[in-house]
Amino acid sequence: MVWHRTKEASVAYDDLLCAACSGRVVDGGCPTCLVTRQSLPSAPRLPAGALLVLAAVLALLLVLADHVS
Ligand SMILES: [Zn+2]
Repeated sequence: MVWHRTKEASVAYDDLLCAACSGRVVDGGCPTCLVTRQSLPSAPRLPAGALLVLAAVLALLLVLADHVS
């Protein structure tokens, strides 16, 4: 089941086109492609813990903004 989900995800990314070079992001034809490809869930650069911390910080900022306004 996990394999199946991964396969579906990679197929979806095959259709992702780069705004800078109009090529496929998966081909990594330009620096923008490479950066975008690295940010895709299929090639995670951040550990899950870092994402949780980021989500917590964003929630905290929303709470603070609500108090200020
Ligand atoms: Zn590109």
